[in-house]
Amino acid sequence: MRVRVDEDLCLGCGICEGLAPEVFSLANEPFAEVLLDPIPEEYEEVVREAVEECPEEAIIIIEE
Ligand code: SF4
Repeated sequence: MRVRVDEDLCLGCGICEGLAPEVFSLANEPFAEVLLDPIPEEYEEVVREAVEECPEEAIIIIEE
């Protein structure tokens, strides 16, 4: 799995980072950056949770 955040949609609310700080970070940008590419298998479930919780539907999963 690969994932990206649409920076035009992202509000910077931090929900994704709160759920999966290993995967998403707001430390350097006003939008969420993806730290891991590809996503290790152990984080796939929490990434799917972040996709569901994101209020802007800004997290896009690219299945491989
Ligand atoms: S949950 Fe969505 S809107 Fe909020 S910081 Fe993450 S990607 Fe951005």
